[in-house]
Amino acid sequence: MNKNPDLPDTQWLLYQAAEQSPLPIMVTDGGGRIVYANPALVRATGYERDELIGANPRIFRSGQTPPDTYRQLWATLLAGETWEGELFNRSKSGELYAENLHIAPIRDATGGIGHFFAIRRNPVEHHAMAGRIEYLSSVDALTGLPNRNRFMMRLAESMQEAALHGTDISLLHIDLDDFKSFNDSLGQRGADRLLETIANRLKDLVRSNDVLARLGGDKFALLLWDAGVDLPQHELLARIQAGIAEPVELADGHSVTVTACTGVAVYPRDGCTSDALLQAAEVALQSAKQAGHGQARIFEPSATTGRMTRVDMAAQLRHVAERGELVLHFQPQLSLYSGEIVGAEALVRWRHPDRGMIPPGDFIPFAEETGLIVPISEWVLRAACRQAAEWRQAGLRPLTIGVNLSARHFRHADLPDTVAAVLDETAMEPRQLDLELTESAMMHDTGVAIRIVDRLKELGVRLSLDDFGTGYSSLAYLSRFAIDRLKIDQSFVRDVTDNPVNASIVTATIAMAHQLGKGVVAEGVETEAQMNFLRRHDCDEMQGYFFSRPLPAEEFAALLADGRRLELAAPAAGEAVPTLLLVDDEPSILNALKRVFRNEGYRLLTAAGGREGLELLALHPVQVIVSDQRMPEMSGVEFLSRARQLYPRSIRIVLSGYAEIGTVTDAVNRGAISKFFTKPWDDDDLREEIRRAFRSTAEAGRVLSGT
Ligand code: C2E
Ligand code: MG
Ligand code: MG
Repeated sequence: MNKNPDLPDTQWLLYQAAEQSPLPIMVTDGGGRIVYANPALVRATGYERDELIGANPRIFRSGQTPPDTYRQLWATLLAGETWEGELFNRSKSGELYAENLHIAPIRDATGGIGHFFAIRRNPVEHHAMAGRIEYLSSVDALTGLPNRNRFMMRLAESMQEAALHGTDISLLHIDLDDFKSFNDSLGQRGADRLLETIANRLKDLVRSNDVLARLGGDKFALLLWDAGVDLPQHELLARIQAGIAEPVELADGHSVTVTACTGVAVYPRDGCTSDALLQAAEVALQSAKQAGHGQARIFEPSATTGRMTRVDMAAQLRHVAERGELVLHFQPQLSLYSGEIVGAEALVRWRHPDRGMIPPGDFIPFAEETGLIVPISEWVLRAACRQAAEWRQAGLRPLTIGVNLSARHFRHADLPDTVAAVLDETAMEPRQLDLELTESAMMHDTGVAIRIVDRLKELGVRLSLDDFGTGYSSLAYLSRFAIDRLKIDQSFVRDVTDNPVNASIVTATIAMAHQLGKGVVAEGVETEAQMNFLRRHDCDEMQGYFFSRPLPAEEFAALLADGRRLELAAPAAGEAVPTLLLVDDEPSILNALKRVFRNEGYRLLTAAGGREGLELLALHPVQVIVSDQRMPEMSGVEFLSRARQLYPRSIRIVLSGYAEIGTVTDAVNRGAISKFFTKPWDDDDLREEIRRAFRSTAEAGRVLSGT
């Protein structure tokens, strides 16, 4: 390469050094525009140099970096100092990565800050899977809007900010009216297009400060900053209702009109935690729905649910521990390998003298906010360890006891000493204490968090990351903490058998955790189907109502003394039984189908709808599925599309009337189903087709197992 004659020697050399640096380098001007980007930056971000020059570095933002970090970054730089820290950025293709940056102000001749210089300090950690998990768990794939998890986080953050500034925020829960009928008449794809159109209209209507999200199905949520309490007359709400109600033109030239009901709740009046506020908005939504289509209602607390004022709550919480009003319940944790109870999570309740048992969700967040959590948390730690000692003395099998640590307590300077003292006092074996931390506790200032985690680990206790998936859920981060295991949040487990996205988050999380040498516990397991799914994907432990709710100490001890355990079916040895699943909402048709296959030697499973069908698929290995198309809760095509995502090797056949033939052939073309039969079918043809299907699965099985 020729030397550039315009540059004197040193400058040329420095320029070459920057060009050849393996570490990405960027220089911006005082207005935040990129004026230099080296080739390593181009490689790392996937943007062309042309695209970078003149752009604002905001283009790298992923929305995953805690807002506090940016505040600190700018405060440091504008004070003329160098900032070092970690940002979560996204490449042009959308991949998330964590980078450790060194950013320094460059002063000009007059001493003012004219430019900024940024260099990455470490090779980037590409955790493709971590990025994928993070992405799937925060964005709604259909509309690109934040999903429920992300929304709940934003809501919690916004509530904190509003509390700081003494402002109100409003939460709108928007639910489309009678959307099921569109699902039936337009098919899943048509209904999806309709949802997309409406989501786009909502995006256009909201202001940049507002947060719009899809909560799932036909439900959206909107967080408004400056909304008055007079919301039904609120101008934006009226525009939203009108925007939704504008006719939507379909691909075939027809148009349809959708309406929506809205429930509104206002912070802090109607709830002081994100869950409570959403619940209040849901209650308001229900009353709007009762009033008819296109209605909006504000939450009105009923006489019976009168809430404690914040002042009352604070006064009473201050003394709960010493007044003996706290109790612990214990929920069993079970090994998915042996079926045995291997641990218990201690969950606190407040036995209020007048109000009865108050669940933790109604006072822990408040206690956390006000700092009253620390004495409560210390009480829980001590009480849980004492209980464990008592059980040990009573001759019960030693168990791991899980204790939840709030974010505040986690950062409390005395925590490691307190834990050490309690272990000592109660003669508790350190590795039998499992401290549950949350992602939010770890995210804020990771340097400090890593040191606290290390100090706790030195005591020999186990550490778990609670509610995994609901926070920033970055496995890239996680690998840096000496955490022993993850607890997958119940929001993922709840629909793991019928929601392919959540199923893939769960399986990817288990695989990644195991790769990092960490264990996995699934929370909120309520059905046998969920348990089997988790077992099949090598989840280590489970906790949930399926086995037991949290129990008072005596009941838990009785359960343990009785030797209660999970009955785990032994995995089928050798060849799988050929199993055919038949799904139809009409019992007479199911019976007719059973007769067709009576003498074929298959194991026959039957379900009255898609959801039940998905449950059965989670419970049993099934090779071939035959489903009716027209069913009330979920069409056959939709059911089979989900079955395909969850069990791609299954063979899926639909029975349809002539009316639905368009949807069905479309699904065949997309590969969601292998074949369709029109009703009434020919018994012999159907029987022959199913035999062919089983033969082909048997061949595929032999190819796969190499026999
Ligand atoms: P967590 O730590 O995620 O605890 C699990 C929660 O899920 C418990 O609710 C438990 O009763 C519930 N759960 C367990 N299995 C199932 C299931 O199969 N289905 C359903 N729907 N729910 C299930 P709980 O006891 O109301 O506790 C709620 C949260 O309160 C806890 O969530 C934890 O974050 C907090 N918490 C509870 N005790 C303490 C404590 O001593 N200290 C602190 N800092 N937080 C606590
Ligand atoms: Mg927990
Ligand atoms: Mg949890």
